[in-house]
Amino acid sequence: MVKSKKKWIFLYVITFFLIFIYSTNKLDSEDKEFEKEIEKIEYQLDYITTYSEDFSPYNDNVMETATDGEVEEEKMIYLTFDDGPSSVTPKILEILKKYDVKATFFVVSGDNKYKEYIKQMYDDGHTVGVHSDCHEYKKIYSSVDAFLEDFTKCYDIIEKITGKSPTIFRFPGGSINNYNKSTAKDIINEMNRRGFAYFDWNVDSGDATGKLSAEEIYNNVINGVKGRKRAVILMHDSAAKSTTVDALENIIIKLKEDGWQFSSLNNKVKPMIFRIK
Ligand code: ZN
Repeated sequence: MVKSKKKWIFLYVITFFLIFIYSTNKLDSEDKEFEKEIEKIEYQLDYITTYSEDFSPYNDNVMETATDGEVEEEKMIYLTFDDGPSSVTPKILEILKKYDVKATFFVVSGDNKYKEYIKQMYDDGHTVGVHSDCHEYKKIYSSVDAFLEDFTKCYDIIEKITGKSPTIFRFPGGSINNYNKSTAKDIINEMNRRGFAYFDWNVDSGDATGKLSAEEIYNNVINGVKGRKRAVILMHDSAAKSTTVDALENIIIKLKEDGWQFSSLNNKVKPMIFRIK
C-alpha cells in the first residue's frame, strides 16, 4: 500500500514537472508526441485505484500470446455469460450448480436492479468480470478516458458487492468492433498496463442475435466446439435470453458426455482474443 502511494506521488510530481517544462520552454505546439505523452500521464493518473491486484502473466505480450484456442490444454470449456445479471440469472446459477460447472459472468452494473445476484455468482465460485456500466459503445469507445470511466464504475460495484476486485474483463462487442477502430489499441495498452486480462471468444452461441430457439443455440455451441482443444463460449444472461436458459442444461450434458471439462476464466488462463490487424 505504502509502495503504491509512493508510486502515485512520483507520478504526480513527474506530471507537474512535465507541465512546468512544457509551459516555461514554450515548446513548439507542433510537438504532438510530447502532447500525447502528457495526455497519457493524465489518464494514467485518473482512476488511480483501478489496477488489477494480481497482474496477468500475459499482459506484456498479450498480442503475441493471443491464440484462437489451440493451446496445450485438453478439452476445456469456458462458459461465459455477458450483460447480466437479470431475472434469468438465478436459473442459470441453479443449472450450473446442479452440474457442478464453474463459469464466468461479465456483468453490467449501470441501473441494473438485479445487481444483488453478483454476490451469488461469486459465492457459488464463478468468476465475476467487468463488462460495462452503461454498455453504450459510442460512449465508452470514444477515448481511453471514457473507457476507463465506464470500466471503473462497474469495477467498483463488483468490488463493493463481492469484496474482491475483478482482474478480468470483456469488451462490450468484443475487443475489435465497429466503434473502437481508432481507440482499441490505446485502450488495450492502457488496460494491459493496469494488469487486467480480457477475453474474447471462439465459439458464439448466437444468442445475441434475434430470438434463437433453444435448439439453435444448442446446435451453435455443439457444432462450434468441434475440432477445438478449448473453447470460450459466448452466451448472455440478460433478461430476454430465456432460450439460452432452456438450452444450457442440454449443452452441459452433451459436452460432459463428449469428455469436455469446465472451468471459469481467470487472469492466468492463456488469452483468447481477437487479433488487431
Ligand atoms: Zn455485452
